[in-house]
Amino acid sequence: MTVTDISHPAPASPTLLDGPALWPAQAHTPTVLGRQLVVERGAGSWLYTTDGRRLFDGTAGLWHANVGHGRPELAQAAYDQMRQLETFHIFARYANDKALEIGEVLAEISPIDRAKLILNSGGSDAIDVACKLARRHWQREGRGSKKIILSREFAYHGLHAFGTSIAGLEFNREGYGSESLVPETARISLNDPAQVEALITELGPENIAALVTEAVQGTGGVNPPAPGYLEAISRLCKEHDILLILDEVITGFGRMGTMFAAEYYGLEPDMITFAKGVTSGYAPLGGVMVAPRLWEPFYQDSPNTPIFRHGATYAGHATACAVALKHMEILESERLVPRVGELAGVLGSALDNLASQNPLVAQVRYAGLLGGVTLSDQLSAEQVCDDLVELGFIGRPLRGNTIQISPPFITTDSELLDFVAAISQAITERGAK
Ligand code: PMP
Repeated sequence: MTVTDISHPAPASPTLLDGPALWPAQAHTPTVLGRQLVVERGAGSWLYTTDGRRLFDGTAGLWHANVGHGRPELAQAAYDQMRQLETFHIFARYANDKALEIGEVLAEISPIDRAKLILNSGGSDAIDVACKLARRHWQREGRGSKKIILSREFAYHGLHAFGTSIAGLEFNREGYGSESLVPETARISLNDPAQVEALITELGPENIAALVTEAVQGTGGVNPPAPGYLEAISRLCKEHDILLILDEVITGFGRMGTMFAAEYYGLEPDMITFAKGVTSGYAPLGGVMVAPRLWEPFYQDSPNTPIFRHGATYAGHATACAVALKHMEILESERLVPRVGELAGVLGSALDNLASQNPLVAQVRYAGLLGGVTLSDQLSAEQVCDDLVELGFIGRPLRGNTIQISPPFITTDSELLDFVAAISQAITERGAK
């Protein structure tokens, strides 16, 4: 859109203007207002709405409710911590015991050896701090021209300033002057390493700070990497001294059937961003795992040692960290990560069957407990997801006319199969209309 292209939408109807005060997120308001599904209770993989529906949470909310809803032991952990100390900040000399403890636990399971942990409140935060640290690293090394952040077509890395500017989904970039919001970013090909190599040469490796990538793209449509792609781009990063930031906000903490996707794909990133699955959404927590080459210069015993000027009031929030500690115990004691490996097998064969039996399915993609069903052009994923709600299941329309499948790890085989069967039914019935 150009500056002269100012559209004048029809005036909103009084009913829309008089709706709830809460501004719905990522919503076309005339489409959603008056028909919002208001969830008031959750138990395991199921949700209950104020209008009396019982819905299967086929997406684990926004890919986050991994251990399922309504767990009393996590509520208890939050309650106990709040009674003792709601939180205390971690600036300068101060810390709190729970932030230190979860730091140790996360460093222990991190695929990055001797990782340090930066903690904050979510995935968008984590991306902003990882990109800042990448630029700060090169500036401190005396190579300050290395500023460009590369990201992939269709990528989603949250919606703070860096996340907006490096978004590969164009609709998340438009309207903010994103080229100048965070200048010096560039998009690389989704799956072709030859294009990535050519672009690195064109931009000059001396100008590139980092490459950010999801392992399996989520919001971009559930896109597992083409075979060899992640390995190839991580080799290019090593060759050209470009930091590799692996965004594990969706894949971290078990969704691939391994604790991290870095292990699944055999990658050695310099930073890993995480959020969602660190608490399954029971408290807002996210962060960055940082490799020694990045943190060691900030830990030298010298008056000249630089400070990494980043932090936030809720960094290492004690209640969020206490919940994360209990959550890690649950993943372990209920063996939920290996369970994802089993569910992944069930999902893969169910989706292959769906693709071969339903002519209105254009393609299926899956990896770990992440699935995407792309519909043929005559159907709309949005419409089919609305139909699914009437059948008692929550799916979510993603870019590329795709339906998201990412249920909680505690889902049973039969619930998962019922969900895929409901998708097939909704597609068939919609196709017949
Ligand atoms: N990165 C990825 C890969 C994500 O999927 C998301 C959220 N869907 C984010 C970052 C942003 O996380 P948050 O919404 O917690 O800010």
